Amino acid sequence: MNLDDANRLDAADPLRALRELFTLPEGLTYLDGNSLGALPRATPARLQRAVEQEWGQGLIKSWNSAGWIDLPRRLGDRLAPWLGARPGEVLVADSTSVNLYKVLHAALQLQQGQRKVIVSERSNFPTDNYIAQSVARAHGGELILVEQPEDIAPLLDERCAVLMLTHVNYRTGRMHDMGLLTRWAQQAGALAVWDLAHSAGAVPIDLLGTAADFAIGCGYKYLNGGPGAPAFVWMHPRHDGQIWQPLTGWLGHASPFDFDSDYQPAPGIQQYQCGTPPLLSMTALDTALDVYDAAQKLGGIRALRNKSLALTEAFMGAVEERVPGAAIATPRDAALRGSQVSFALPRGTDGYAVMQALIARGVIGDFRAGDPELLRFGFAPMYNGFADVVRAVDALEDIIATRAWDRPEFISRSKVT
Ligand SMILES: *Cc1c(COP(=O)(O)O)cnc(C)c1O
Repeated sequence: MNLDDANRLDAADPLRALRELFTLPEGLTYLDGNSLGALPRATPARLQRAVEQEWGQGLIKSWNSAGWIDLPRRLGDRLAPWLGARPGEVLVADSTSVNLYKVLHAALQLQQGQRKVIVSERSNFPTDNYIAQSVARAHGGELILVEQPEDIAPLLDERCAVLMLTHVNYRTGRMHDMGLLTRWAQQAGALAVWDLAHSAGAVPIDLLGTAADFAIGCGYKYLNGGPGAPAFVWMHPRHDGQIWQPLTGWLGHASPFDFDSDYQPAPGIQQYQCGTPPLLSMTALDTALDVYDAAQKLGGIRALRNKSLALTEAFMGAVEERVPGAAIATPRDAALRGSQVSFALPRGTDGYAVMQALIARGVIGDFRAGDPELLRFGFAPMYNGFADVVRAVDALEDIIATRAWDRPEFISRSKVT
């Protein structure tokens, strides 16, 4: 595929109109929307209105008049269909890490001290495993990490309280079978907690269909809510009213404006709100979800998924063909693949420096340390196209063939990689 072929495919793309709903720098190939989603075109004006009108003019009245108080639930309702959940079951609040803390504590409480082991993968995103370590410690339990997905099943025994997995692995883009693993966990008496950070908005998710127990995920990746956007949390309704999530703030109280001296949890997912939400960030996420409404009209998650798979497939094929020695870490099987592609480069080629050289040429992906070190490219089907695939591989091929990466300014590492 050359740039002409790619442009033809992009011109015929039924989702093409969505790209116009984003502001992306001219000439940039942005393949990091799985880390920080692009800016929706409508967001700056909407935020300006929120600041000047709702805050500046409305002041405290805006809690009612602008609907601020209901925004965490309203955003949850808007997200619900993309998660396979029903309105009323999802709350937008806090960060992914904080929401994971809440649901893991809740899950261990549901096990009533009978089971205290949390099972996860060593390759999970570190914050997930760090939070799980703390929760396991607090309950006198332990976190057990497997090296390979195949090692999970044997650990689902009478000690296992929770199976905590990230649906799409942040390094490799490998996707778990959520239905199967949830069933295995629950058959063994454990609860299933899913992190959807790299799934929400990118791959089909059916929380109710799989009958998972809890799920959390991120607002600033494929959902395009902006840097530090609030995250989401979901609990299966069968767990309503049985436990207290641990961060018992006033806005998770059944009637916060009674200012009662005793805590009484709100019913359902509302209990998972802790304190006052970051309204400006919530507003940015609200605006980003308008783009999801537009995507719904163009075929929804099915159409996004089909495009994402076509892009990642084309990218993997081109990397294999044109980047000598690249070892692709992402599954070729579409059923096992999220919306990103990662690969390692041969010994003697500094992957970090290659990524810096790519960025200097206007192709943004990212680099993830570890063993092996990986170059990672996220494909956001709302705004990426086949031309991005071609531009990225053209640049990669040239940078590696000419060793253009081998320069001091590309080799020295910044604080955020
Ligand atoms: C991005 C990501 C997070 C981010 O957590 P924050 O609390 O927003 O920093 C957590 N878990 C996974 C799996 C992620 O990919």
